[in-house]
Amino acid sequence: MSTTSTLRILVAGGGIAGNAVALQLLRAGVATTVVERADAPRPGGQAVDLRSASREVAERMGLMEGIAKFQLHEEGLNLVDRKGKDVYRMPADMFEGKGPVAEIEITRGDLNEVLLTEIVSVSERLDYRYGEWITDLTQDESGVAVTFASGGTERFDLVIGADGVHSATRRMAFGPEEEFGTYLGGYMSFFTIPTPKDGITPGWMTMHPVPRASVGIRPDGDPVTSKAIITLRCDKDPALRRDVAAQKQLISDMLAKAGWHADYVLEAMATTPDFYFDELERVDMPTLNAGRVTLLGDAGFCGSPMTGMGTAMALVGAYILAGEIASSPDDLTAALARYEAAIVPFLDKAKELPGGGLKMMLPTTEFGLKAALTMGKMMTLKPFRPIMMKMLEQTSDYVLPTYRA
Ligand SMILES: Cc1cc2nc3c(=O)[nH]c(=O)nc-3n(C[C@H](O)[C@H](O)[C@H](O)COP(=O)(O)OP(=O)(O)OC[C@H]3O[C@@H](n4cnc5c(N)ncnc54)[C@H](O)[C@@H]3O)c2cc1C
Repeated sequence: MSTTSTLRILVAGGGIAGNAVALQLLRAGVATTVVERADAPRPGGQAVDLRSASREVAERMGLMEGIAKFQLHEEGLNLVDRKGKDVYRMPADMFEGKGPVAEIEITRGDLNEVLLTEIVSVSERLDYRYGEWITDLTQDESGVAVTFASGGTERFDLVIGADGVHSATRRMAFGPEEEFGTYLGGYMSFFTIPTPKDGITPGWMTMHPVPRASVGIRPDGDPVTSKAIITLRCDKDPALRRDVAAQKQLISDMLAKAGWHADYVLEAMATTPDFYFDELERVDMPTLNAGRVTLLGDAGFCGSPMTGMGTAMALVGAYILAGEIASSPDDLTAALARYEAAIVPFLDKAKELPGGGLKMMLPTTEFGLKAALTMGKMMTLKPFRPIMMKMLEQTSDYVLPTYRA
């Protein structure tokens, strides 16, 4: 019979999902190995929102003290035209912290640091390996034999694939990405730039859309630096996947002559230390479990950064998965089934794209853009604010399961 102290679990991926589940497993006394393909924690990412259930999870996991140290104080969202003139503003308090700027905002990289700091404090049963990944999985009824890139095969009771939207674990245990992923019509990029001296209001997220593309600048907690946010609407080009030069070229082409601070951002992009670019993809799995392999975070349920819910889904999923494993360590099949049953109702809502997705966000013509901006402006009017809040708080009625501390 397995107990939490005899289980051995492998987590593939040291992002928010992988680190959050590792933390909870370690706290439950489970020997946990994490393999992260990068050579060190990956920096980068703009502000991620913690709302309703994900905020509750952060509180229950005791992360709030760490989060408070990095918490961003964003004043609101400002849409500007090519000359930098306000089209409209959405102050955070206009939506009681339930609008585009959530009550709790922290950059993805800082949240990962909070998790890693907590992990170190319960590291007794931890084996954390950077620059490592799985090359092969063979499972039987009682466990999984895993071969690693560095050579060698080891046995685990369970493998958790938390290796992101292009998950290799998913490919090995469930099938190719094309079976589960849907291209949502574009790409997003995030990277750090020096804060421009003028043309933005400090503390505000400023966005400038043009047909098919938008460029934004968002505070990141350090007055000297900011995060650039780029969104592109275009056909999928598989050749872009690993070609950073081609990714940057596409951004430059689509934002050429965009006005406002676009040229400044494009220049800073050339030397940014943490360029991130990926296609907007939704991942829908018919099931999250295949024997002794389960999926967590973007690997199993990605709605794309457009939902603003990727980190929320990762945190809530990690909390439930670890909670269920700790509830029945001697029956992992039942634990995984309960994990899936509990998280799916949350995912169904969290994956909904607020406001119709890229088509509404980035129209292809000047006329369409004007109409979209007029709609956005309308949402700032009192009678329409509840509509906006409802769109962004779609998971607020989700009831989070409770587990023993
Ligand atoms: C650098 C970075 C910046 C991001 N910025 C934003 C942002 O600004 N806004 C936003 O909404 N979302 C962003 N995301 C996505 C966001 O982090 C996720 O949607 C959400 O937090 C769920 O995280 P995840 O852990 O499931 O996936 P991810 O955050 O993608 O983490 C997956 C981890 O697995 C690692 N990995 C990949 N393949 C393997 C493998 N074969 N073996 C082992 N490890 C592997 C990756 O290096 C990564 O550390 C970013 C992701 C990354 C990696």
